[in-house]
Parts: sequence; C-alpha cells; structure tokens
Amino acid sequence: MPEGDSVYRVARTLDARLRGTTVRASDFRVPQHATADLAGARVLGTSPRGKHLLTRFDLDGDALTLHTHLRMDGSWTVLAPGKVLPRHLQPDVRVLLRTDGPSAAGLKLGVVELLPTADEHTVVGHLGPDLLDAVAPVDEVVAAAVRNLAADPQRPLAAALLDQRNLAGLGNLWVNELCFLRGHLPTRPAGEVPLGPLVRLAVKLLRFSTSPRGAHQVTTGDTRPGRQHWVYGRAGQPCLRCGTPVEVSAEVPGDPERRRTWWCPHCQR
Ligand SMILES: [Zn+2]
Repeated sequence: MPEGDSVYRVARTLDARLRGTTVRASDFRVPQHATADLAGARVLGTSPRGKHLLTRFDLDGDALTLHTHLRMDGSWTVLAPGKVLPRHLQPDVRVLLRTDGPSAAGLKLGVVELLPTADEHTVVGHLGPDLLDAVAPVDEVVAAAVRNLAADPQRPLAAALLDQRNLAGLGNLWVNELCFLRGHLPTRPAGEVPLGPLVRLAVKLLRFSTSPRGAHQVTTGDTRPGRQHWVYGRAGQPCLRCGTPVEVSAEVPGDPERRRTWWCPHCQR
C-alpha cells in the first residue's frame, strides 16, 4: 500500500539515481501523452509531495514536470545501465525514461501527467501540509493540519485523516494504526479527540518509517510477520494489546482504493 512514507522512499531513489542524467529516449504509454518526447531533457530531480511524485526536467530551457501517483499498486523501478525490464512486466509500463545513466520504468501508475513546472500547483495545490515536509518546521506542519481537521469537527476521524486536503501523506494503514495508538475509534468525530498529539505522532511515525534506521511501516516495533501492525489487516485476530478480536468494517462502496477500517473495540473509544 503506497503511503506518504513509501512515496518518499521512491522519490529518494529516483532522485539519487536519475538527477543530473540526460534523457536519451522516453516512452509514454498513456493516451494523453502518447506523443510526448523528453529526449534531450536533463533530469533536475524528484520530489515527493504527500503521495504525489514530481520529477522535474529542463528541456531546452523549458521547465517540465512529470507528475505521477502510485494509487493502489503503482511503482517505479530503476534499472542499471544496460539492464532491461523483465518481459512479464512490460504490459504494466506506463512511462519509461532511458537516460545516459540508469533507466526508470513507472509501472501501473494511477496518474501520469506531463506539465509545465510553473503549473504544478494545479496538481498538488489542493494538498494540506505535508507530514514529511523537509523544510517547514514540524510545529507549523502540525498546527496547519490541526486547523484543517478541526474545521469539520463532525467528520469521522479516519475519513478526516485520509483526506489529503487536510494533511498530506497518510494512507489507510497509518490512519488505522494511528487511531489505535491514540485509543480513538475511527468513527469518532474529529472534533472530539485531541488533534495535536495525534498529528504529532503521525509526523513522528512517518519520519521514522523513512529514516535509514526505521523499520518501514512497522507500527508495533515488532518486525516479525503478522506482528507488525496493531489492527490493520488483522480482522478477527486477537488485539496484540488486550486479546479482544479486532473488528473490521466493510469497504466503503465506490471507494477506488477499496479501503476497509480495523479497530479494537476494547482499546479504542
Ligand atoms: Zn485491544
């Protein structure tokens, strides 16, 4: 499940491997950009913004941005010079960048858009404060997110936290785990819970998950299979804290990300 911290890691890899290279050939396998050609463009770098990726290019003085989003099961793969993508993955390719260094293939991406860098606000401008913002002070990020969440106090907590306009970077895994860790039912109205400590914990966990010493998306501190999460994906299994069977709600009809919600009826109120 690509969440803000996974996207951050992808951005870091793309940035480290492609920055400063020159595109030799590009292949956009999405209808709206089928004729786009980035050959000759210099790769300026890749930045994450919430769960979005912005890869920037200089093409003969034009500043261009490739905006991609992994959605449910998208990914980026970087291939060392001379390596080609295994044949069975070819049908999944949405965009391919061959550079004078490594190549990068975007597979099953939910969004592939090429736009002038000056227009990036049209694709990420709606996002709330980024929990993994490397520049803004944490206190500012937390305060802005709390303001946004508090503006709709009746909204169920899980839905409010998933709304990227309130704060950017949380996916379903983190939202379920955060609700457990703070002892709140996911359905509790957002206005009824202390939002500051909740958002501060979200920042801390996400940043730890992206750090080299952090275990990726492990919320329990236990990396053994089946013990990495408190409630996420553990329907009917005993709560790791109190032993009560973990409950699950049916996925929300029409939710393109097929989200479900898990909670412990004893530990969360
Ligand atoms: Zn419990």
